[in-house]
Parts: sequence; structure tokens; C-alpha cells
Amino acid sequence: MENHGLVIEERKERKAKPAEGEMPFGTIFTDHMFMMDYTEGKGWHDPRIVPYGPLELDPAAMIFHYGQTVFEGMKAYRTQDGRSLLFRPEMNMKRLNKSCERMSIPPIDEEKVLACLLELLRLDQEWIPEAPGTSLYIRPFVISTEPNLAVGPSRSYRLSIILSPVGPYFPGGLKPVTIHVEDTFTRAVKGGTGTAKTAGNYSSGYRAQANAKQQGNADVLWLDGIEKKYIEEVGSMNIFFKIGNEVITPALNGSILEGVTRKSVIELLGSWGLPVTERKIAIEELFDLHEAGKVEEIFGTGTAAVISPVGELNWRGKKAVINQHGIGDLSQRLYDTITGIQSGRLEDEFGWTVEIG
Ligand SMILES: *Cc1c(COP(=O)(O)O)cnc(C)c1O
Repeated sequence: MENHGLVIEERKERKAKPAEGEMPFGTIFTDHMFMMDYTEGKGWHDPRIVPYGPLELDPAAMIFHYGQTVFEGMKAYRTQDGRSLLFRPEMNMKRLNKSCERMSIPPIDEEKVLACLLELLRLDQEWIPEAPGTSLYIRPFVISTEPNLAVGPSRSYRLSIILSPVGPYFPGGLKPVTIHVEDTFTRAVKGGTGTAKTAGNYSSGYRAQANAKQQGNADVLWLDGIEKKYIEEVGSMNIFFKIGNEVITPALNGSILEGVTRKSVIELLGSWGLPVTERKIAIEELFDLHEAGKVEEIFGTGTAAVISPVGELNWRGKKAVINQHGIGDLSQRLYDTITGIQSGRLEDEFGWTVEIG
């Protein structure tokens, strides 16, 4: 490959591809992966594409002990005319560096890593599924690799990118979910790591999610960590509320993860003449508005589901049924428009997509 010094070692025999409908999220991986190493004094070096396979790590590698690690999540889509598209990938690269910054990991060269990702996708292009709603999920991640039990930032790292074909998030079309408003556990606080995609933010939520699921909820809605008063976000989705003619989403406050889908929804709604108000919104205010019959739609936004309508919120024994458990018009229109742009069915007026070529 030209100029990036990328070395490609191709797999000799390609793996069998999964049948459509046999792609549980994140369980099947393609033929190749990208890797690049960081060593103190040397910087990031040895970008390479190699056959997908296990990593060998020293048991003392710092990732296992202190969790210094970050990740990203994005998707590649196949168009009806056989092209392959990425959706705003430069934003994921930028966020990866933001996460690195927060977690004391040395920054990557965003353009170079994106160029290497494009090479990887070209090599494994046959793995981008074609059926409507399917895509190739892309998982870049950085781990700390120095064998050292002393608490402190690692002096070596590995960036990897792996690819996983995935089926539609909602196989039968959009389906409203029931969400538990979490009153006990905390996801993140201002000054913490909530704005970074880092491992511990997710595993620390499992306890609350398990409790919520036992009571029939699909996920939890996190409140601010100090007062448990203001709405933040869902497990791995940002959240929006349609109240009359206004759309509201919690303002980025230093503990909410800034989603690419969130930003895209705000820009899209703005272009439709429906500006989004980014502000603090208390859970109590939302339940009051609901009692007054003013909450028309609630939806989550994230790469995995794109738009996920919320049909019911449960908070301190109170239940708020939204839109009679139905899919709101705005939720449906946003879903159709964003997935339309992502899959090349609709014209990309915003210049959001990048062709893999
Ligand atoms: C990834 C993520 C989101 C959604 O971000 P997208 O870029 O839209 O996928 C929202 N909240 C959390 C906690 C996340 O990890």
C-alpha cells in the first residue's frame, strides 16, 4: 500500500461466511484484522493487516489489571448497487482520540488509521452483508500492553480493528423498548470517564441492567450520578424527547458520551426546521410532562440500533407509557432517513458517507 507503511499478510484460506439471519451481534469475525503498536520513545509503529486470530499477551499486561483501554463502534453498509459506505468515520476517529486523551493513552494519527481501516475493509469487503438492515460492525480498540503491575500509564499499547457482520438490530422492524430509570447505581459523574468509550463504564452497569431485566426492562436510563435527578443516557444510546413541537436531549455535561448518531439527529432535525433543545432535563419534569399528556415520543440513538423508540419508562414504581407503546412518526422518519443515507438509498445531502471503493 502507498505511503502508510502498511504491511498486509493475507489469510491463505478464507473462512465460510455466515448465512443471513445467523449473525448474532458481535459473535462472528472476518478473515483479517488491523494492528499497530506503540512503544514509548518510538511512537505508533508497524501498522499491519494480518489473519484474524488470538492475541498473545503477557499475564502482567496492564490492560488486565488497571483497565487502561478505549474502543469505538461504527458500521460499513452495502448499497443496492454494490458500493460500500462508512457513516461519518472521521467522527469516530476523533472520538477515539478523545477517549485516549481521557485514559492517558497516546493519540493516534486519525487520518492514517482511517486509511488503514479502509484497506482492511477493501480486503474483507465480501463480508459486508447485503440484506436490508445488515451491516459490518467495526470495532477499533486500544489496549495497554506493558507487563508491569505498578499502577500508572502503560508505556506500550496495541491498537486493533476487528470486523463483525451483524443482522438488523430490530429484525421485524422498529420495536419500542421498555426502559428502567436507574435510581441506585451510577454510570458516570462529571470529571469521571463517562465521556470516553472505555471498558469500565460498561461492565460497571451490568449489575443495574441485570436488575432491570429481571423486571422486564430492556435496559436502564441513567440519571446524573450526584443527585439522581437529571436524565443522562441509556446503556449505549443517547436519548431524545419529543414534547409537543419541541425536541429535547440532555446537554453534554461532562458525563454523557457524545454520540455520532446524536449529533446526526440534531443536524437532521435542524434541517427539517425542528431545532433540538440541548438542556438539563429532570426525570421528575419528564414524568410531569407525561402526566400532562405532552410527551409524544421518546427515542434512543446509537450506532447499533440507529433509532430505538421507547415505549415505556419505569421510575420508582411509576410507569409512563409513551405513545401507547407505538412507534412515533418522528422516530420512524429519523430511522428511515438515517438508514437510507447510510445504505445509499437516499441522497447524502450532508456529505456524511465515505465510499470504501
Ligand atoms: C457509543 C455510545 C453511544 C452512542 O454513540 P454513537 O456514536 O451514536 O454510536 C451513546 N452512549 C454510550 C454510553 C455509548 O457508549
